Parts: sequence; structure tokens; C-alpha cells
Amino acid sequence: MRRFAGVSLCALTVTACAVSSSMSDGPRARARTVRAGETAAAAGKDGCGQGTAGAAARAAHPRDHDGDLSRGQVVAMLGDLHRTLRERYGTSDERRFDSARRRTLVIPVRFHALAAGRTGRLSAASVRGQIATLNAAYGGRTGGADTGVRFRLAGYDVTNNAAWFRHPRKYESRLKHRLRRGGRGTLNLYTAAVGSDVLGFSTFPQWYRKSPRKDGVVVDYRSLPHGTYRRFNRGYTAVHEIGHWLGLLHTFQGGCTPPGDGVSDTPYEATPAQGCPHYKDSCPQRGDDPVHNFMNYGFDSCMRDFTRGQGRRIRAVWAAYRAPRNAREAGRAGVRGSVDRGTGGAGAARSVGGAR
Ligand SMILES: [Zn+2]
Repeated sequence: MRRFAGVSLCALTVTACAVSSSMSDGPRARARTVRAGETAAAAGKDGCGQGTAGAAARAAHPRDHDGDLSRGQVVAMLGDLHRTLRERYGTSDERRFDSARRRTLVIPVRFHALAAGRTGRLSAASVRGQIATLNAAYGGRTGGADTGVRFRLAGYDVTNNAAWFRHPRKYESRLKHRLRRGGRGTLNLYTAAVGSDVLGFSTFPQWYRKSPRKDGVVVDYRSLPHGTYRRFNRGYTAVHEIGHWLGLLHTFQGGCTPPGDGVSDTPYEATPAQGCPHYKDSCPQRGDDPVHNFMNYGFDSCMRDFTRGQGRRIRAVWAAYRAPRNAREAGRAGVRGSVDRGTGGAGAARSVGGAR
């Protein structure tokens, strides 16, 4: 399914198997996606079996098609970023916004769990665990750079609506219009049964202007820490998708063709990491593939880092698109860099809505 260009969706493939035959063969991993809900046993004991006819029919697309951006779109996004920075700050030099030179950015998170009865209803511990995972990953505590970004739970609600829960893409506009809270600096994070071949999807900050009410991130509820998605249950789907919400692209964006992901210290990469390769060097440019980067496609156990350049990009994108625009907005900021004071916590879960 391809989405209209205004709101891009990204995603991790649920399970990508069949690793490349050897390093010398290069990165041509053949991959296969496994249906959400399909057990690893059904797919093969390691989740990478020959698969059923249905699964086979879904095969051969190792990346999420929704997240694909053309080179032209990437160039336009980067151009828009630098143009916006110049307009607002008189410079497009992203070093000015480096986290090492700026105070910590704390982003309020409005957490919305969609549910069908008891299914999808997250415990307060799960919600807190996801927030802690975000802070560890973006703080450099799993490896790599500290991006200078932290997350603070600003509210948690549960919406019992089976249709929204099971088809969050189909009802994306409706559910977001109903549930979204805060301004451009508030992260609205939704959990649902995202679906068959992707684990989550996100909007990019460049599109907030056109579609502010669609702004946000949706991840599968089984991908949270200790969730039931084998190999994708450390909460890194949210880390990855929020990376897009903060303006990062896949490390394999554009393959070996400039500008790639537009970040200087993430080497070019011809294809996504599948599974957990120890090593891959798929492009003639300098540097091994960033197989452990959160913006790649490895298993959760394989993901561990952001680069300093990605942190700088996040801060620059924030300054361009999500920072308070004026004194009035800044005055409303409850926490450094945010525009939403938030209410309640994970313990204050409340139910809203119903079937509609
Ligand atoms: Zn992605």
C-alpha cells in the first residue's frame, strides 16, 4: 500500500529472514516478511522457514514500501530543512544546533493505546518501559551518541475501538483527529495492531505544516519492551519510528547514491540490514554499513546506536519545525523545548471513546 506523498509512512518489516549467503557475496539478502500474528513456529523454527504459500506470496520485499522515499523527495526534504533554518535563524549550518552545545531537549509524549476489549490495553509498566527505552536509546546508553533528546510521559489514555485497533492505517485520520493532543512539539504515540508486514509508521516533521493533525507515530502494541513480537520486542520499533518523526531517514535511504540519508557520519548502504549481520560493506564509499543503527532494519537485538550526526540532524530539524515559534508559544512550554505541559502519567490511565 502506498500512501499519498504528504504523509509518509515508514516501518520496520516484521521479520526479515534468509540472510545473505556470505559476506563475500555482498549484501544481497533475500528477505521475507512474516505476517503479524503468525508465530515463529508457523514460519519455521527460527522464524525463517520456507513458509506457507500465503507467506511466500508476501515474500521478496525486504523493506517497507511505505517508507520508501524517492531521491527527489529526499533532496526536497533536505532543501526545505536548510531553507527553513536560514529563514528562522539566518544560517543553515546544522552544527549550530549540535546537542553538545545545546541543553537537553525534553519531548512530552501523549501515549494513546488503542484496544479491542482487553487486547491492546497496555499496563502502566509497559508504557513506562517504552519511555525508559526511548530515553536509553536517545541518551546513548545503548551505544553510540547521546542525541540530547529525552522523553517525558505527558499523558496516557486507552481507547476501546476494535476497528481502530485492528486497522490503524485505514482509520488513521479519524483516530488521530479524535485523540491527538498538543502542538508541533508534542509527540503523539499510538499503539495498535499495526498489521501484516510493518511494525509501525510515522509522519515526518516537514509535513506538519500541511497535515498537523496527522502528526505522530503509530507502533504495534506487541513491539513494546517484553511484548510478544519475537525479535522485535525491545521497544526499538518506537525508537526507529520516532527517529522519523524527528526527521531521520533510513541509513540505507537511496542506497549508494548521494545524498543517501543526508547525514555525514552514517556510511552509505546499498540495502537494509536483515536479521543481525556482524559486518556489511555494500557501497564503494568509505565506511562499513551502519548495521547497528536504530534507523536500519535489523532485529531489535541488533540495534544499538545513533550517530552524532543524526543527533545534530534531529536538533536542527527540531529547531526548524518543532521548536516554539514565538514568545507566546515559548511561554507555554512546560519543559525545556516542549510546548505541552501534559497531564497525568502512566498510572493515570483512562479510557476514552468506544466503537464509532
Ligand atoms: Zn523506517
